[in-house]
Amino acid sequence: MKIKFLFLLPLLVLTELVVAQQLFMPLNIRKAYDNNTRAMDGKPGAKYWQNKASYKIDMQVDLATREVSGTEKIDYTNNSPDTLKFIRVKLAHDLWKKNAVRAFEINTADLTDGVDIQQVSINNRITEAEQYNRGNTFLNIKLYTPLAPGESVNLGINWSYIAAQSKGTPRECVCDSTTWFLAYSYPQVAVYDDLHGWADTPYSGLQEMYNDFSDYEVRITVPANAMVWATGVWQNPDEMLESEFLRRYNTAQKIEDVVSIFTQEDYKNKRQFFKKGNNGTHSFVYKAEAVPDFALAFSDHFLWDATTITVDAKTGRKTLVSAAYNPDSKDYYEVCRVAADGLKLMSTWLPGYPYPYPRMTVFNGDDGMEFPMMCNDVSTFPRSPVGLTVHESSHTYFPFMMGINEQMYAWMDEGWAAFFDVLVTDSVAGQPQGSLRDYPTFAGTDIDMPPMTPSRNLAYQSYRVASYNRPQAAYMNLYQMLGYKRFHKCMVEYMDRWKGKHPQPFDFFNTWNDASGENLDWFWKPWFFDWGYPDLAVQGLSQKGKKASIVIENMGTMPMSAYGEIEYADGSKETFKRTAEVWKKGNKTISIPLASGKMVKKVTLGDPHVSDANPGNNIWEKK
Ligand SMILES: [Zn+2]
Repeated sequence: MKIKFLFLLPLLVLTELVVAQQLFMPLNIRKAYDNNTRAMDGKPGAKYWQNKASYKIDMQVDLATREVSGTEKIDYTNNSPDTLKFIRVKLAHDLWKKNAVRAFEINTADLTDGVDIQQVSINNRITEAEQYNRGNTFLNIKLYTPLAPGESVNLGINWSYIAAQSKGTPRECVCDSTTWFLAYSYPQVAVYDDLHGWADTPYSGLQEMYNDFSDYEVRITVPANAMVWATGVWQNPDEMLESEFLRRYNTAQKIEDVVSIFTQEDYKNKRQFFKKGNNGTHSFVYKAEAVPDFALAFSDHFLWDATTITVDAKTGRKTLVSAAYNPDSKDYYEVCRVAADGLKLMSTWLPGYPYPYPRMTVFNGDDGMEFPMMCNDVSTFPRSPVGLTVHESSHTYFPFMMGINEQMYAWMDEGWAAFFDVLVTDSVAGQPQGSLRDYPTFAGTDIDMPPMTPSRNLAYQSYRVASYNRPQAAYMNLYQMLGYKRFHKCMVEYMDRWKGKHPQPFDFFNTWNDASGENLDWFWKPWFFDWGYPDLAVQGLSQKGKKASIVIENMGTMPMSAYGEIEYADGSKETFKRTAEVWKKGNKTISIPLASGKMVKKVTLGDPHVSDANPGNNIWEKK
């Protein structure tokens, strides 16, 4: 239909009532508030608790058989008010068992018998196999004496598995025969929390982390010419590195320029990086405190660049940032600088919170996957490496520093990483690079599930849309609406309250309501709880006496930014920006006043940072 110069009738007759919103709170979450483990203002409750583990791991790899094996001792403390009859341990590599349930196809050559558990001990007493059950990527160890509140137990586990070798293996890789990235490689105690008890989401390859904050001391034995990069701080460089390389490593920890620690030249000249190991192997020791996971990678032919940045101006705290990469990966020569610049921006701008760890290594694996202090990132050449580097390293904040349960609420972490990667990427690259993910294609379809749907219940495409695309669009609208200052205040408050803990959605909503000074439930509900889609349209012109305005209609269900441009008949142009709050009162239309005495020629709605499901109704032209 041709829209003419219309006199639109009941535009502003809509009630000015703010429709009272109520966010549905599942009953098990309500119970946490009754029990005071969480508080209604969004803070951790007076009785908040979480359990804790300390790991001592000794592991090795066999390049010929691709076997990863290890022994570990876990001190696990029960801080819950419940008595635990068993301890649940995650065996992620049971994903590769012949009959495992998997979200992805895998190459049948990679099928294995899963994790081989050779021995389990409880407080140093070696158990019979009857003492533990297996299934769904879990090992449940029945305790001889139930673990009362406040008590600790020591578990010992000897294990091994065969690493998958196919390209495209999720999260980890045997990238080449002497370069591996090891993920989820040790039996790890599952989370027992105040909302769900023992986390029971089997690992299917799709839903990612939910881990408690643990201390790690890990000894890793690899072939004597290989370097190991891992979560934590390397404890024994002095005894391992030859003096020239030790000098470079120490220099990199002092200066803000990128230092090439292992260079192409060194490899060409067959330089010896390491002092002689025993029997063709050597052992690295890494330690990390209060991190939700441990990952490692090794290679005998990767280049290594490193630099140091100050991540907290107040305390002067520094972080050593590294890139370890295949000399053939052309984009990787700038990754160390990119990662360092990205972390600096994240520490000071968005989210604007000091990077929490002493190390970050971006390792040239073949995925895009985050771990505490480690990224497994494929070479993006010929594309720029900025977006991927920023995305994966921004995950440090969510789900690591903030211990998000991605198996239930992946939007609380992937949505943020997707939000940061757009804005921070543009800044690091110095030009617009990042764009919003494609939410419009999926918005309002029956795979566009409200993000509050537990992530574990979503199949691949719905999981992607609910965890990345839709929450990214929501956070962008939130950012535009609150403005940097208010947004940052809410973010810092949220992080101060919940870092090192396990926030769930209502802790997020309530903290932001509290810190922004405004009940934003009217925004949260349509974006996170309801079916729907974002769609604005230019409805036409409205003339009231001498005052003309352009009318924007919200045809969809989401409060969203109305950004656009007005072009006048005399060739002049003006932009307008209204943020989501203009829809707060439940109105379906807004008016944008036109410059008086000017004839309007064309109105165009839209912005690269606004998702609109139907761009077809975003242009109005005077005919
Ligand atoms: Zn991500």
